[in-house]
Amino acid sequence: MTTLLGCIADDFTGATDLAGLLARSGVAVSLRIGVPTSPPKETAAFEVIALKCRTAPVADAVAETKAALAWLGQAGAQRFFWKYCSTFDSTPDGNIGPVAEALMQELGADQTIYCPAFPENGRSIFMGNLFVGTQPLAESPMKDHPLTPMRDSNLMRLLKPQVTRGVGLVNRLCVAQGVDAVRDQLAALKATDCAHVVVDAVANEDLVTIAAASRDMPLMTGGSALAMPLPQLYSDDGLLDLEAAQSRNVAPEHATIVLSGSCSAMTNAQVAKYLDGGAPSFRLDPLALAERGTAPVLEWLAQQDLAEAPLIYATADPASVKAAQARLGVAKAGEMIEATLAACAVAARDAGARRFIVAGGETSGAVTQGLGVDALDIGPEIAPGVPWTFCTSGGARIALTLKSGNFGAETFFGDATSVLDAM
Ligand code: ADP
Repeated sequence: MTTLLGCIADDFTGATDLAGLLARSGVAVSLRIGVPTSPPKETAAFEVIALKCRTAPVADAVAETKAALAWLGQAGAQRFFWKYCSTFDSTPDGNIGPVAEALMQELGADQTIYCPAFPENGRSIFMGNLFVGTQPLAESPMKDHPLTPMRDSNLMRLLKPQVTRGVGLVNRLCVAQGVDAVRDQLAALKATDCAHVVVDAVANEDLVTIAAASRDMPLMTGGSALAMPLPQLYSDDGLLDLEAAQSRNVAPEHATIVLSGSCSAMTNAQVAKYLDGGAPSFRLDPLALAERGTAPVLEWLAQQDLAEAPLIYATADPASVKAAQARLGVAKAGEMIEATLAACAVAARDAGARRFIVAGGETSGAVTQGLGVDALDIGPEIAPGVPWTFCTSGGARIALTLKSGNFGAETFFGDATSVLDAM
């Protein structure tokens, strides 16, 4: 299908978040990990390319996003979405503004909007100031972020040093007046050369108004929530046949493997809950791994009945993690476990596993790489921000869910299976 909307996300979890919200409408959404190396073929109406350029040098981020834009353009997209974090994670140099400006130049666009609001997750914008829950951005924990400490809450002030053209605001009082008022205000700002317009939003209805007012712009920029109304708006405009664009994925057979390399508090609770239910399991001990390698776990895996959805986990409490890191080094312990879980995923696939439940952001990266997966079709949501995805690995069609740290309820591993069974 010709691609209607081409999205570029500045990191992987941001891309899955955006893809999941677009897929809530039931339409097929395809997520590519990095810019595909071959030309577009069998594309979805909504394509999302996940990059890793949030804190890359500006020139690299611009080059990568331009390459993504070119691929999406070849797929047929005429409208584009630049997705960044709902906390506007950026440095004084970029990369939100410079990338937006470069994409605008490529597209010949003379104006775009900036709306990172995500009201369901407590991110709201009022008079250009971004709030995280009840706190202004610069008073939230984001002020101490290791890579992108956010020390100002005002989006216009944050954006200004990042761009060369004028910065303006459509405030909440205007948004509350509806689509026409927002359009008029955007036009008035354009007349004064305001190419970069921050738009206030405090509720989902605001996002619908804003998306409706700016849906014809070649480029929109913002958090994932701003894109959520687009499938319905395109359908209302007659651009998209919602029925024809429906996702057609089917759940693969039951054989399941659960792989957990996350040590977050929630993952610890999820593993404990799953073990309580009596699932067969193998605990990866980093010290034993360093001594004896992967043979024991691979032998154990070969003897498992995958219909019982066995669990292999390195998940441990903070004290055990610290102890292992002290003996092996932080990076070595992490890499060894990631490589082992990736090898387990491949072995499980070769033994017939078709459903993969993976916990941990870095772990997910290692597992997808191991499985040779570079494109994911987005399926039903298991928990907010965590969808099932469908992809091809080693010639087999598989279902894969990638859960980062603290996402999902305590019953996540069981919930994942139920969601797929209900398809
Ligand atoms: P999260 O999404 O919770 O941050 P990640 O997979 O991104 O999870 O990161 C967890 C990191 O900790 C990985 O590099 C993983 O290999 C490592 N790790 C997992 N278990 C242990 C352990 N028992 N000891 C030391 N490091 C571990």
